[in-house]
Amino acid sequence: MNQAKSIMHYPLMVVGTVAIDSVETPFGKRDSVFGGSASYFSYAASFFTPVELIAVVGEDFPKEYRKVLQERPIGLDHLITNSGKTFHWKGKYETDLNTAHTLDTQLNVLLDFKPKLKADREPEYLFLANIDPNLQLDVLNQVKRQKCRFIACDTMNFWITGKKPELEKVLKRVDMIVLNDGETRLLAHESNLFKAARKIQAMGPGTVIIKKGEHGALLFHGQQFFVLPAYPLEEVFDPTGAGDTFAGGVMGYLVKTNEISFENLKQALVYGAVVASFTVEAFGLDRLRNLQTADIENRRLEFRKLCHF
Ligand code: AMP
Repeated sequence: MNQAKSIMHYPLMVVGTVAIDSVETPFGKRDSVFGGSASYFSYAASFFTPVELIAVVGEDFPKEYRKVLQERPIGLDHLITNSGKTFHWKGKYETDLNTAHTLDTQLNVLLDFKPKLKADREPEYLFLANIDPNLQLDVLNQVKRQKCRFIACDTMNFWITGKKPELEKVLKRVDMIVLNDGETRLLAHESNLFKAARKIQAMGPGTVIIKKGEHGALLFHGQQFFVLPAYPLEEVFDPTGAGDTFAGGVMGYLVKTNEISFENLKQALVYGAVVASFTVEAFGLDRLRNLQTADIENRRLEFRKLCHF
């Protein structure tokens, strides 16, 4: 199994956080949940394509969590362990499950992380998941742009507020950004989402995806525009990771189909929304760990019926 993994080709690479979260929702509270932007992203994308993960954890990172990633075609050669504690995020959701309130962010091992890509790695697709923009730049600088077909990124209020100039450098070098509505408004200094998306396109990425939680997502691709509702769920348990798994579904589908066009991006958004709808049905990665590719396809067909008019 390990041998098979070492010769596997990973067309998609992601850098982001691998975290230990503490999460509180109206339905319950959990400490030491396996989380992080890169964990959720890679787990979701792995239903479509092998994915290589670049991240750092501390000595406290449980072995079982590494095993969770090993359940999927996720390359772990660049998941390094440094001395110190794993990145820790503590968040709370009120009755409005669309908004995560950050109670605490402990960067820990992220502070001294210097990602170093092995020389033979030439990803065709790169996702810069939510992490310090300086680390996003470090990885960008090591990837051969001529060989890399498509680069996308994510970020959040923590970095938009704390590292705006660095983030602006990242934006100049990516093809697509995936943000939620609040982050979009904050980044663009603009309350209208259409105007905000246009402003962000002018900062670099020709494609902007705005996630609106239970209200769906918007796609801006050049001058073209598409709107998609969210898959309606009667029960949402824990919204953590919805955004990262949405991005994982979108990127995974783009890699699988290897086509960057408006029509294909629309399909990618549908897959993103479907995978995210599974994530929120349980705490952490619990639901995705019981997911089959057929479940994704069945829900996508249900979703299509619901949207058709
Ligand atoms: P989301 O998909 O937006 O719900 O992402 C949730 C994940 O983001 C959690 O598992 C956190 O560990 C991670 N996270 C929270 N804050 C940050 C941050 N400032 N930088 C990177 N990752 C973060």
